[in-house]
Amino acid sequence: MPLLIAFIIAVVVVAIYARRNTGTRACRWREDRAGSKGALIKYNCITCGAEAFRSTGIPDRCMSGQGGASKL
Ligand SMILES: [Zn+2]
Repeated sequence: MPLLIAFIIAVVVVAIYARRNTGTRACRWREDRAGSKGALIKYNCITCGAEAFRSTGIPDRCMSGQGGASKL
């Protein structure tokens, strides 16, 4: 059984580490009307500098891991 317990602990540690790496909840999006294109409103993340275009509202997660600006 010790092996099973060690395995469970390892999975939990990896899960926590992976979640910490994403940093999605640290992002704070700010609307940038000057960069908007029609119905698409430009948002800048003031935390990591990522850019995103959305027509439905503020992005709910960070785009920094996807090369910055998103292409709908
Ligand atoms: Zn960000």
